[in-house]
Amino acid sequence: NADVAMYQAKANGRNNFQFFTADLNARASERLQLEASMRMALHNDQFKLHYQPQVSLPDQQIVGAEALIRWQHPEHGLISPSRFIPIAEDSRMIVTLGTWVLQSAVRQAGRWQAAGLPPITIAVNLSPLQLHQPNLPEIVAEALADAGLDAQYLELEVTESVIMQEGEQVTMALHRLKKLGVRLSIDDFGTGYSSLSYLKRFAFDKLKVDQSFVRDLSTDPNDEAIVLAIIGLGKTLGMTVLAEGVETHEQLAFLERAGIDSVQGYLLSRPITAEAFEALITPGAYVEPGLRPDATV
Ligand code: C2E
Ligand code: MG
Ligand code: MG
Ligand code: MG
Repeated sequence: NADVAMYQAKANGRNNFQFFTADLNARASERLQLEASMRMALHNDQFKLHYQPQVSLPDQQIVGAEALIRWQHPEHGLISPSRFIPIAEDSRMIVTLGTWVLQSAVRQAGRWQAAGLPPITIAVNLSPLQLHQPNLPEIVAEALADAGLDAQYLELEVTESVIMQEGEQVTMALHRLKKLGVRLSIDDFGTGYSSLSYLKRFAFDKLKVDQSFVRDLSTDPNDEAIVLAIIGLGKTLGMTVLAEGVETHEQLAFLERAGIDSVQGYLLSRPITAEAFEALITPGAYVEPGLRPDATV
C-alpha cells in the first residue's frame, strides 16, 4: 500500500522520502510507456503465440496445446509474458490482448483441424479481468464460429485465485462458458487459497498441478504426497489431471505410476512456433528427435 510505504519512507528521513517518490514516479511513467507501446505492438502484429504440447499418458500422444503469448519487440527481442501480462492487467489492456489471444488461438486450431490434422484441444489462459467482461461468452462463441471450431476443442484456463476471489459475476461467467460446451481447467492448482469448496460448485474438467510441486518430486516426499493427493482428488471429482513443468524422466515416471492423465513440460517440448507445432502433429512429418528447443525462451 502506497500510503504505508510513503509513511515508512518518511520515517527514514527526508532524503529517503524524496528518493522513494522519484523512484515511484519513474516506475509509473515506465509503466505508462509500456502500456502505450503494448497498444502499438498489438496494432503492429508484434505479439505472437507459441504452443506447448500437452501429452497424454501412458501412450504419449499429443492431445492438446497451450497457447502462450510472446512479444516480439523490434528492439528488445522476445519478451516473456511474465514481464508484460501484469502491466497489461493493471491497465486493463489485458482485455483487448486476451481477446486477440483467444481469437488467434482458436483460428489456428480451426486451421489445423480443417487441414485434416489429428484433433487437439487448444488451451487459452484467461485473465481475471476477462472473466469480468459481461460479453465474454459471446466473444468466445463468436471466435469459435468464425474459426469453425467445435466448442469441445477449446479449453479455458483460469487460476484458482480468480475462482476464489469472486463473486456472482465470475460464477455466472463460468456457468455460461460451460454451457457453450468449452472445457474449463484450473491453472496453477495448489498455489491459490487452498479452499476446495469451489471444486464442487463448478464443473471443471481439468486440474493442472502447479509446476512448483512437480519440480522437487524426486527429492521431496512432501511434494510426492501432495501430487498423489491432487491426482486422487481430481479423479474422485471426475476431472482429468495434468502436471505442468515436467522436466525430467524421473518426474515423468513418477507421474505415470501415479496415474496422471497428461503432462506438459520441457522434457516433452518447450512452447514452440505454430509451424513447429504443426510439424509435430503432422503424421509422418520429420521432427528432430528429442526436445524441440524454443529459440525464444
Ligand atoms: P501458465 O499458464 O502456468 O503457463 C505455463 C508456463 O510454464 C509457461 O511460461 C511455460 O513456458 C512454462 N513452462 C512449461 N513447461 C515448463 C517446464 O518444464 N519448466 C519450466 N520451468 N517452465 C515451464 P510462459 O510462457 O513464460 O508464461 C508464463 C505465464 O504467463 C503463464 O503461466 C500465464 O499465467 C501467463 N500467460 C502466458 N500467455 C498468456 C495469455 O495469453 N493470457 C494470459 N492472461 N496469461 C498468459
Ligand atoms: Mg496456463
Ligand atoms: Mg500454470
Ligand atoms: Mg503460472
